Amino acid sequence: MLVDAIVEAIRLAVTRIPDDVVSAIRDAHAREDNEVARFNLENILKAIEIGKEDSIPVCQDTGTITFFVEAGVESPFLGEVKGWLMEATMRATEEIPLRPNAVDVLTGKNSGDNTGKGVPVIHWELVPGDDIRIAILPKGGGSENCSALAMLTPSEGWEGVRRFVLERVRECGGKPCPPAILGIGVGGGADYSLLLAKKALLRRVGERNPDEGIAKIEEEILEEVNALGIGPMGMGGKTTALDVKIEVAHRHPASFPVGLIVQCWANRRAFVEIKPDGSVEVWQ
Ligand code: SF4
Repeated sequence: MLVDAIVEAIRLAVTRIPDDVVSAIRDAHAREDNEVARFNLENILKAIEIGKEDSIPVCQDTGTITFFVEAGVESPFLGEVKGWLMEATMRATEEIPLRPNAVDVLTGKNSGDNTGKGVPVIHWELVPGDDIRIAILPKGGGSENCSALAMLTPSEGWEGVRRFVLERVRECGGKPCPPAILGIGVGGGADYSLLLAKKALLRRVGERNPDEGIAKIEEEILEEVNALGIGPMGMGGKTTALDVKIEVAHRHPASFPVGLIVQCWANRRAFVEIKPDGSVEVWQ
């Protein structure tokens, strides 16, 4: 059953940190000479190992389940996907289990199953073809609280982007559980820049933007963020961020929107692809 595959993909996402993230944390450990930072990185690696071995979530906050769906317009399952994602979220909450993280904004009542108004979050994109590709991003709340939007003036430009990101990372210190991964969306409008920033987190650590100019800025911001010395869990050290990912869209001539989504070391993700014959592939 296709819902089973989605539940298993959610399980994979919350219990197993992708290899590219793990090796970036190992590299950070290898180049670190601050003892406290080394200790914090060792603990993070231990949590990752336990999650993998015991098939339990790597962090108590299993996040807000967020789906990015690329839906092929000719897929025979187009009308069923939303129902599957809702059911899979409820089942994953009970079976894995996930922490119930969906709270009514007015009453404060927790729905208990990670579903509710607007959650799980589902971003849709219609694409040609008959496959359905679903990216799963369980997004922790502590790091999400450090996310921010800046509506810069065009004259502030990329220098303004640097300043805004560095100020926000400095201001947040250890709150987002660094070493972090920073998703940055530039252009579009206020809403779209934040969406681009969140989607950027699905890229592998070390994978640069295909545009050389943007890739260079990613590397420069990464270096500047790490020069802040905030370090793992905010207790000092060489690695404050494992990577910086920038996605761009054209902007209005009068606007320079910058969305920043901060992701913690628990950079969880999984992908599901559903073929028109009902066969499924799951990967990270
Ligand atoms: S920010 Fe990330 S690592 Fe920290 S508690 Fe939340 S999910 Fe866990």
